[in-house]
Amino acid sequence: MPDLHTLGIDIGSTASKCVVLKNGNEILSTAVIPVGAGTSGPKRVIEKALWDAGIEEEIIDFTVATGYGRNTFESADDQISELSCHAKGAAFLFDGVRTIIDIGGQDAKVLSLLPNGKLSNFQMNDKCAAGTGRFMEVMARVLDVDISDFSKYGSRSENRVDISSTCTVFAETEVISHLAKAAKIEDVIAGIHRSVASRVGSLAKRTGITEPVVMTGGVAKNAGIVKALEEEIGVGIKTNQMCQIAGALGASLYAYEFLIEEEEYE
Ligand code: ADP
Repeated sequence: MPDLHTLGIDIGSTASKCVVLKNGNEILSTAVIPVGAGTSGPKRVIEKALWDAGIEEEIIDFTVATGYGRNTFESADDQISELSCHAKGAAFLFDGVRTIIDIGGQDAKVLSLLPNGKLSNFQMNDKCAAGTGRFMEVMARVLDVDISDFSKYGSRSENRVDISSTCTVFAETEVISHLAKAAKIEDVIAGIHRSVASRVGSLAKRTGITEPVVMTGGVAKNAGIVKALEEEIGVGIKTNQMCQIAGALGASLYAYEFLIEEEEYE
């Protein structure tokens, strides 16, 4: 049987992600471009993933799009919801996952899975920027600290400040006022991590937490948030450097399943 190549693209609000798979189990490449729906991100992320995989677009047998911008992306063969794709991708990365905490650019979701991997429940916050990547980006701008350095700063904190506002705009004012009172940046960042953890932790508690718990989405790249969330929900959280591409991976796995089912049908 010839090799089957599938492509999964996750067009998010903030970033475009792509995964190229060979035969549904070998990751040939992954790519992230930090701009999402309505930008050149989707086109660029596919070009990058194909280049890194060393293959031409014609080699791809099936493409599945997921994420916020999936329905306006015409080059895909099929579209599948990000809930299904995150669940599928996370289960590939972490055997037996039962709870997924996904914090993306503009929403946070908690998914409960049955032992067979099927989605049994979920909760989502997409009404408010607090507890999402957007909140982190606003804070990064105020502090003039790169978002990828937040974890390093937060880990040096010895006297975490309290950020009590749940609204992003008021929390920003609170951060500015802490800085005006000469609070250390590391203590403010630790407070920001705590604030996100408290919001997303409540969402997780409402959904129900069963171990193993996995974190996906771009915000999981911040180890400070993962640690603060572990403290908040009282259980360990698994994550890895592939956390941001979990949805695109799931889309690529669905693309492979589609090809196999088609073959069986013929
Ligand atoms: P979406 O799918 O909504 O586009 P992602 O899951 O791709 O969102 O996550 C985007 C968010 O990830 C950004 O808003 C940013 O806060 C966060 N992020 C991206 N890269 C990093 C990093 N290196 N360290 C910490 N946070 C990051």
